[in-house]
Amino acid sequence: MATPILNNEALNVREQSRDDRILLAGLGRKELADALIEFGIDPKKVRMRSKQIFHWIYNYGVTDWEAMTNIAKPLRKSLSEKFSLERPELIERQVSVDGTRKYLIRMAPGIEVESVFIPAVSKTGALCVSSQVGCTLTCKFCHTGTQKLVRNLTAREIALQVMVARDDLNEWPSSSVERKLTNIVFMGMGEPLYNTEEVAKAVDIICDREGLSFGRRRITLSTSGVVPEIVKAGQQTQAMLAISLHAANDELRTQIMPINKKYPLKDLMAACRAYPGLSNSKRITFEYVMLKGINDSPKHAKQLINLLKGIPAKVNLIPFNPWPGSPYECSDWETIETFADKINAAGYASPIRTPRGRDILAACGQLRSESEKMRASERRKLEHASADTNP
Ligand code: SAH
Ligand code: SF4
Repeated sequence: MATPILNNEALNVREQSRDDRILLAGLGRKELADALIEFGIDPKKVRMRSKQIFHWIYNYGVTDWEAMTNIAKPLRKSLSEKFSLERPELIERQVSVDGTRKYLIRMAPGIEVESVFIPAVSKTGALCVSSQVGCTLTCKFCHTGTQKLVRNLTAREIALQVMVARDDLNEWPSSSVERKLTNIVFMGMGEPLYNTEEVAKAVDIICDREGLSFGRRRITLSTSGVVPEIVKAGQQTQAMLAISLHAANDELRTQIMPINKKYPLKDLMAACRAYPGLSNSKRITFEYVMLKGINDSPKHAKQLINLLKGIPAKVNLIPFNPWPGSPYECSDWETIETFADKINAAGYASPIRTPRGRDILAACGQLRSESEKMRASERRKLEHASADTNP
């Protein structure tokens, strides 16, 4: 079984490229400056140089040192010998009939990450990024929940998911106006608030005005309800908050989301009320997956309305997306509409989310990488290799 690495300090942020150079893409401003100091750039010029290079990497998306025309040729050459601008390996790219794109990216041996680009009908589009490989929580309706946690992703690995999508959509430079990728949602694999520090660092990189340049209100953190992290994450990121609620009474919620036992609804709602910056223009989104015969009756709708009282909120109703072996069915369309009408009549926007990318298993809750298997097979390969070389 894979050993989970929970502590990001144990990970080397300065990963090596495939040819042993240090990888720069995905690093934050400070790490980039530190790498340049270590390389030997004149300390008086580090600020200026790292600013230039940061801009080339994150505004222009360059992968070739030759493009950095405001850096003298000899310096470019020596930088290119030490540092690589390469992206991680894109193992698979699938495009759904509805235009949704799913990427499977290998960040490191055995660390495979999925992210999904969802174009909207309007001019916006969201990238659903992963914050962990696997998940420690075992929500009954979620495919990721069946995959053990392999490890937390680093800020670099989160930012790289955005860069890979930008490459694929051909949306460099960041400062160009017509971008299809406008929003980032932490709704891929994993629980972002079990990895708050790296997620917050990644948000800083993604929102840097001289770089990828996303507005903080265009970033959404989605959590299953890690109560002690909610306010802190809001302070650190100033991002929008989504709560995966799915049930409005403790008994049912604990049944389908075991985390509710540790952090029951009373505590969860108190943390929501304390979320920084809440207002009518900055509402919390409550996600509610529609499970046939489980949480979809008018009684459940009433409980939900009572629970939300006094919170600037909107409710996203998500038709359940099945996956191989999933234990639930999606509620009937009529039931979902009746539920939506009730919530709406109580004064909360309650859009029904159209499932996207179901044909390529890219819809909410369908992501589950093969990392564990990969790790096992790679380990076997290594074991064979060392057996071959051992006398
Ligand atoms: N761990 C975080 C973010 C990832 S899950 C969280 O739980 O919020 C992203 C969203 O997809 C969550 O609202 C989750 O509850 C929902 N989801 C999970 N499995 C689903 C499924 N099979 N069908 C529809 N939505 C699902
Ligand atoms: Fe983890 Fe979120 Fe899936 Fe629950 S819904 S298992 S918290 S990824």
